[in-house]
Amino acid sequence: MAALPSAEVQRRAAKIRCVFLDIDGVLTDGKLYIGPNSEETKTNYVRDGYGIKLALKLGLQVAVISGRPSESMRRRLEWLGVKHIALDTEDKEPAYLRMCAEMGLSDEQCAHVGDDVPDLPLFRRVGLACTVADAHPKALALAHWTSRYSGGHGAVREAIDLVLEAQGRI
Ligand SMILES: [Mg+2]
Repeated sequence: MAALPSAEVQRRAAKIRCVFLDIDGVLTDGKLYIGPNSEETKTNYVRDGYGIKLALKLGLQVAVISGRPSESMRRRLEWLGVKHIALDTEDKEPAYLRMCAEMGLSDEQCAHVGDDVPDLPLFRRVGLACTVADAHPKALALAHWTSRYSGGHGAVREAIDLVLEAQGRI
């Protein structure tokens, strides 16, 4: 059995009102399949999708900020019920600040799940910085908590469960 989250992580998780997510390497395994007409295909993990739906149903907000454009991902996220989506956003911090203002949230009420250098500005701000097992070393070094799972293999679900459990919602 994996170690339980530390008391410090649970204390941070108890304050979270919104979980921000990266897409590539977090909601996906980071691979892009490039088709003959340059169209991109990615895989999603159904258990992560269920976690997003569960979070929203239980009153935990979910927001997504990604550096790449993807209309198919936008449609899937909207289908899951996510209302705060910023794609094709290389500099994530302005989008994060705008969404926090829209939701009336402070940094300590936000978690971010990211895997690479573009996520580090958010890791420095949020109350709970989460990363995936196969993240870039700089993300692993800065995160408060690391999932036992890799991107696209249940890390998002584990992060959402961590927050919901710390709040006694599940
Ligand atoms: Mg990424």
